[in-house]
Amino acid sequence: MRIFSSIPETSAALRDLRTSGQAAPHSVGFVPTMGALHAGHRSLLQAARQRCDVVAASIFVNPTQFAPNEDFSRYPRTLEADCRMLEAEGVDLVFTPTAEIMYPPGAATWVEVEGVSERLDGASRPGHFRGVATVVAKLFHIVQPDFAFFGQKDAVQVAVLQKMVRDLDLPVELVVCPIVREPDGLALSSRNRYLSAQERPQALILSRALQAAAALAERGEHHAVALLAAMREILQEEPTVRVDYVAVVDPATLLPVETIPAGALLAVAAYVGSTRLIDNVLLKRTDG
Ligand code: AMP
Repeated sequence: MRIFSSIPETSAALRDLRTSGQAAPHSVGFVPTMGALHAGHRSLLQAARQRCDVVAASIFVNPTQFAPNEDFSRYPRTLEADCRMLEAEGVDLVFTPTAEIMYPPGAATWVEVEGVSERLDGASRPGHFRGVATVVAKLFHIVQPDFAFFGQKDAVQVAVLQKMVRDLDLPVELVVCPIVREPDGLALSSRNRYLSAQERPQALILSRALQAAAALAERGEHHAVALLAAMREILQEEPTVRVDYVAVVDPATLLPVETIPAGALLAVAAYVGSTRLIDNVLLKRTDG
């Protein structure tokens, strides 16, 4: 596994990997991350390894997607352990740039995906998805992947990036992988390590609320208001958990739906202590 922080070295190494050896050109799969890797990231690496000849990953805690009051400086950084996981999963190349490399002095160009970027997490975190779209567009230019792998965990990010790829005609296919959970249902997240021993069980209320609403939908409840009410009721059972939003939306536009069509997205964001957690389920078809 080769590790680079320089853009020209990364591009050159990927050119070699893509074109050398038998049966070239080889397909390149890319897994962008902010590090602090866990089994959710591992599932993306495995999906990439299965589908592509060459696997590249990036580790970059992107400053432009954090607001000044957010956790950029204390975001967990575990590069050595991350590299062990990447190596074990058969990653060929890791790109670990510094902020100065990605944003040299004077950098002033942004990718803004209007509409979807302002909904759900985008409403709570203004400017977040401008930072995400910009850094992912830059990473795509540097790595030039055929396939890029993202987690359904970040459903708004998926909607923003799908739209960016379409609107900018980027020659990459996004592959969305299912949410990996702890055995008790908590969606894996690098931010789970912020939770205290007391908060950890409280955080389960997010997945419990989603599961209850999904079960209602499966039993034939077609009305978004009923599902939203059921979720809110369960979330209230943990008075220390502060709900940011609950939503039933179209997964592509993130606009609210009133009745549940096939594939509606049920999403929640909530603060457990000072930690903001997100979770979601894609509802099964309920039009039978
Ligand atoms: P991050 O390092 O948090 O930026 O996440 C990198 C990628 O891993 C994103 O595409 C996330 O959606 C994905 N990811 C994070 N948590 C999970 C999870 N629990 N299951 C599946 N994918 C995940």
